[in-house]
Amino acid sequence: MKPPITGRTIVAGVAGNPVAHSLSPLIHNAWLEAAGIDGVYVAFAPDADRFEVFVDAFRSGAIRGLNVTTPFKEVALSVAEVVSPRAEMAAAANLLTFGTDGRVSADNTDGIGLLGALAAQAPGFDPKAGPIAVLGAGGAARGAVAALVAAGAPQVRIVNRTLARAEAVAGAVGAGAVACPLDAAAEAFDGVTAVINATSAGLSGQPGLDVPLEAAPETAVIMDMIYKPLETPFLAEARKLGRRTVDGLEMLIRQAEPSFQAFYGAAPPADVDVRALAMKALGQ
Ligand code: NAP
Repeated sequence: MKPPITGRTIVAGVAGNPVAHSLSPLIHNAWLEAAGIDGVYVAFAPDADRFEVFVDAFRSGAIRGLNVTTPFKEVALSVAEVVSPRAEMAAAANLLTFGTDGRVSADNTDGIGLLGALAAQAPGFDPKAGPIAVLGAGGAARGAVAALVAAGAPQVRIVNRTLARAEAVAGAVGAGAVACPLDAAAEAFDGVTAVINATSAGLSGQPGLDVPLEAAPETAVIMDMIYKPLETPFLAEARKLGRRTVDGLEMLIRQAEPSFQAFYGAAPPADVDVRALAMKALGQ
């Protein structure tokens, strides 16, 4: 049973708009309960144009920290006084922590989530082993590209509908990343070790991306960051082709682990199956 709220309860949460669909409260509160930590994790939906005011209200240290999701990941970076190199490289933050001196620190754990999901669901996958294609050039893609380059990927091919956005991400990341138009996806998939969907195409019943996954080698791992639905059209196609797949739910759980540590000062307990809880919440 969840420990009662006390005078010492540590409060953290997630800010997004909309946010009611977020699985983060389910994941963090299950970990808190299993670990017997006197803490709670709640969801906030600040007004879209008042994020700065919302964050200022917490500079007193009222809460330990916040995860940040759409549409606040970019503005979250700009309100922070201290920015980690990986948040800087991703140009977005998904984690804010509040210091006792009123300063806000920004970090980005999406890259940890991405690499953790690949390690968990595609054992033996080595980011250093060859080129990797990332579909998309938004905040999620930029974080992924930065994490993959930092993990030693020899080349990351950023494939996007709007080529200029892919070029901007490649330019920001520097050597190791190249931009490709979406209609040249077949060429971009040639010889890759992984194809990672970081677009929002395929989200919640919308049509998936029409890309020739068969152009990727049979050994390539296919990953989708989307977790609603858990089996996206993109992953369904990959499974049909017999490719190994990695899903967005695993990434969500893995990016939450370092946030939990930052908020509550302990690693998440291993003896609670948050993936099973999240799958149930997703109707799986
Ligand atoms: P974003 O900034 O809005 O970027 C969206 C990207 O998708 C852009 O590159 C856009 O291309 C592309 N796109 C959208 N619809 C498309 C279509 N019909 N055809 C081709 N390309 C299309 O979004 P984001 O914040 O990067 O997030 C992207 C996805 O990653 C979301 O679904 C989000 O839920 C997921 N995500 C998951 C996790 C996790 O932990 N599992 C973490 C972060 C993000 P243009 O540039 O041409 O518009």
